[in-house]
Amino acid sequence: MATLSLNALRKTYPNGFTALHGIDLSIDDGELIVVVGPSGCGKSTLLRMLAGLESISDGELAIDGRRVNDLEPAERDIAMVFQNYALYPHMSVADNMGYALKNRGVPKAERRRKVEETARLIGLEDLLERRPRQLSGGQRQRVAMGRAIVREPKVFLFDEPLSNLDAKLRVQMRIEIRRLQKRLGVTAVYVTHDQVEAMTLADRLVVMNGGHIEQVGTPMHLYECP
Ligand code: ADP
Ligand code: ADP
Repeated sequence: MATLSLNALRKTYPNGFTALHGIDLSIDDGELIVVVGPSGCGKSTLLRMLAGLESISDGELAIDGRRVNDLEPAERDIAMVFQNYALYPHMSVADNMGYALKNRGVPKAERRRKVEETARLIGLEDLLERRPRQLSGGQRQRVAMGRAIVREPKVFLFDEPLSNLDAKLRVQMRIEIRRLQKRLGVTAVYVTHDQVEAMTLADRLVVMNGGHIEQVGTPMHLYECP
C-alpha cells in the first residue's frame, strides 16, 4: 500500500514534444485509479513515468511522501503488468514467477513458498511446471499478474493488460483483478481504452486529453454529470 502524489508533473520528450502538461493528482492508499482517454493523450507516458521508465522533465512525483528521485529502484516497489505478458519462454511458470525474487537474493525455500502461495491465490497451482507456450492467453495473463504479485509491490501499474483476451475472458479477469487488488490492498493505476472496463474497475476515473487531466471522479459521478 502506498499513496502517490503527482505535482505539476511534466514530460517533454527529447524531440521537444510535451506529452504531459503539468499533471496534478493524489492517489490514496489501496485505491484503484483507471486512466482513460483517446490514443496519444499521454496515458502510457504517465504510467511509464510512475514506473520509473521515463525521466521526469519537471514537477514532482512522490510515493508515501518521498520523491521518487530520492528512492533507490528497489525501494520504489512498483510492479507493472503489460498486455504482451513478456514471460520468459524457456522458463516454467514457477521460475517465471520466482525470477524477480531470485534476482533480489531471496533464499530458495522462501521463494518456493511465496510462489506457491501466490499460485494458489490466482489459481495457477496446477500449472507451475508448464512453459508459457503450453498455456492459454488467460493463463499467461494470470502468470504475468502472479509474477507481479509475488514481489508484494506497494503499487501495481496495469497497461491495458486484458486487451489481447477475448470478451468473455476479459470480463472474468476484470472481476478477478478487482478482487485481488482489494484483497491485497495494493494501490493501482490501470490504463485502458475500454469504457466498460474503466467503469467497473475504477474507484476513481481520470479522463485525460492532450496531455492534460480533463476530469477526475468516481464512475457514478462522471457518468451521471457529463
Ligand atoms: P497514449 O498512451 O495515451 O496513447 P502516449 O503516452 O503513448 O499516449 O503518447 C502521448 C504523446 O507523446 C503522443 O503524441 C506520442 O506520439 C508522444 N510520444 C510518445 N513517446 C514519445 C517519444 N519517445 N518521443 C516523442 N514523442 C513521444
Ligand atoms: P534456482 O532458481 O535457485 O535454480 P529452482 O529452479 O529449484 O531454483 O527454483 C526456481 C524458482 O521457482 C524458485 O523461486 C522456486 O521457489 C520456484 N519453484 C520452482 N518450482 C516450483 C514449484 N513446483 N512450486 C513452487 N515454486 C517453485
